[in-house]
Amino acid sequence: MTTDTPTDLPVVPHWIDGTESPSTSGRTAPVYDPALGVATKHVALADQSEIEKAIASAHAAFPAWRDMSLAKRQSILFSFRELLNERKGELAEIITSEHGKVVSDALGEIARGQEVVEFATGLAHHLKGEYSEQVSTGIDVYSTKQPLGVVGIISPFNFPAMVPAWFFPIAIAAGNTVVLKPSEKDPSAAIWIAKLWKEAGLPDGVFTVLNGDKEAVDGLLTHPDVRAISFVGSTPIAKYVYETGTAHGKRVQALGGAKNHMLVLPDADLDLVADSAINAGFGSAGERCMAISVVVAVEPVADDLIAKISEKMSTLTVGDGRRSCDMGPLVTEVHRDKVASYIGIAEEDGASVVVDGRGIEVDGDPNGFWLGPTLLDNVPTTSRAYTEEIFGPVLSVVRVQSYEEGVALINGGAFGNGTAIFTNDGGAARRFQNEVQVGMIGINVPIPVPVATFSFGGWKDSLFGDTKAHGAEGVKFFTQQKAITSRWLDPSHGGINLGFPQN
Ligand code: NAD
Repeated sequence: MTTDTPTDLPVVPHWIDGTESPSTSGRTAPVYDPALGVATKHVALADQSEIEKAIASAHAAFPAWRDMSLAKRQSILFSFRELLNERKGELAEIITSEHGKVVSDALGEIARGQEVVEFATGLAHHLKGEYSEQVSTGIDVYSTKQPLGVVGIISPFNFPAMVPAWFFPIAIAAGNTVVLKPSEKDPSAAIWIAKLWKEAGLPDGVFTVLNGDKEAVDGLLTHPDVRAISFVGSTPIAKYVYETGTAHGKRVQALGGAKNHMLVLPDADLDLVADSAINAGFGSAGERCMAISVVVAVEPVADDLIAKISEKMSTLTVGDGRRSCDMGPLVTEVHRDKVASYIGIAEEDGASVVVDGRGIEVDGDPNGFWLGPTLLDNVPTTSRAYTEEIFGPVLSVVRVQSYEEGVALINGGAFGNGTAIFTNDGGAARRFQNEVQVGMIGINVPIPVPVATFSFGGWKDSLFGDTKAHGAEGVKFFTQQKAITSRWLDPSHGGINLGFPQN
C-alpha cells in the first residue's frame, strides 16, 4: 500500500483478456471522492508481470482484429455508440464521484467523446486508400492504410472519459488493439468503458485497461510490442513520454499543459466576454486544458470588465457535483493546496485579489477539496502565477494598451494550446487568427475545442510530436500507409534489365 487509508476499500482492477484482472503487485493508490474528501477505493498499480500480461493479451488479439472485415468492425462501433448514448448517465456518476466535476459537465465530456466514436464509425471511408492506373505501361500503383498493432494511451485525470475517447475509437476502428493507462486519480471510468466494449461485441484483448503509475507508463514506453503512444498530461511528463517513446522506436503524440489567454478588444460585447470568461475559467473548476486562465484586457475596458465578471461570479454556487451546483471541488487535497498557493504568490508579487475563493462556503461536505472561483487583477507577467499553469479556478487579468501588446504577450508564452479573441471587428479577428502562435483559436468562442472531424492539439510546449488527436490526423496516427506497385504480366514482356525502374 502506498498510503495509510483503510485497507478494506475495494480495489479498481485492470481489464485484461476481456475480464477484470485483480491486482497482484501488492501496490495500490487511494482514489478519493473529492466532494467528501475521503478515499472510497484504491486502484491497482501494475508491476512488470501485469504490464507483460496486458501487452501480451493485446498483442495476441491483434491479428484477428486486424483481419476482421470493416463491416463487422463498424457494426461493433455502432453498438458501442448506442450503448454509450443509452447509459452515459452511469458513466457521468462515476466521473463525478472520482473527479468531482458536476454531473452536467461530466455528461458534456462524454458527449464530446461520443462525437469521436461517431467519427470512427465512418471507418470504411477513413481507411480508403488511393489508386493510380497505368503510371507506367501496364503498371498500377495503389496505397492502403494498415493498423500498427498494439497502441498505448496514457491519459490525465481531468477528462477520464473524453481524453481516452479522443484516441481509442479511431485506433480500434483502424484495426489496432489498445492498452489504456488511465490516471490513477480517477480510474473507474476506463473499466466501465471496457465493460461496455465487451457488451458491444468487441473481441477480448482488443481493449485493455492497465492501471498504474510511472512503472506502467514506462512499461508501455519501452515494450517492443507497443507500436505507438498517445499521451495527454502535463508538459514535463509529455516531454518525457515523447523522448522516451521515440527513443524506443515508437510513434508518439504527447499533448501537454496550457495557459490559455482570452484577448478582449475595446469594441467587444463586455457582457458576452464576462459570461465567457466565467464559463471558460471556472467550468470544471478550471481543470481543463482549454480553460481560460488569463484575460488580456486591452484598455480602457479592464475596469468595466472586472466589475462585470466579479458581479456575475457572485452568483456561482460551489458544492457537491451530484447536487445542482455550478462548480465542484478540485481533484485532490494536494492539488487544491497547490492551486490555492498561486493566489498567495500572485498577491506577494503585486496582483490584487478581486474575488478570493479561499474559505468559500459550499453546498457539500466540509472535508471536500474546495476552492472557490478566484479573480486576480494586474497579475505581473513575471509572477509564477502568470508563467505557470495553475489548473484550477483562478482567473488572472492582465491589462495591455494595444492589440499588438496583447498578441506579443500570448506569443511570448511557452504554451500554445488554445486562445480566444473577443471583438466585433472582423479584420482584427482575421489578423489574430493569422498572427497568434497557438494551435486552436476561438473567435468570440471561449473554449475552441474543434469538433471530431477536425483535429485537436496545441503548438509549442502543448504538443510534442507532429500529429494531433482525432480527425484526419488521428486516422493518420493510427495507420501506416503501404504503397503497392503492380503489374500483371503480358507474356510478351519481361527480360532482364538491371537499370533503376523508370516510367
Ligand atoms: P500528469 O502529467 O500528472 O499525468 C498524466 C498521466 O501521466 C497519468 O496517466 C499519470 O499516471 C502519468 N504520469 C504522471 N507522472 C508520471 C511520471 N513521472 N512518469 C510517467 N508517467 C507519469 O497530468 P494530470 O495532472 O493527470 O493532468 C493535468 C495536466 O494535463 C494539465 O497539465 C493539463 O493541461 C494537461 N492536459 C492537457 C490536455 C491537452 O489536450 N493538451 C488535455 C487534458 C489535460
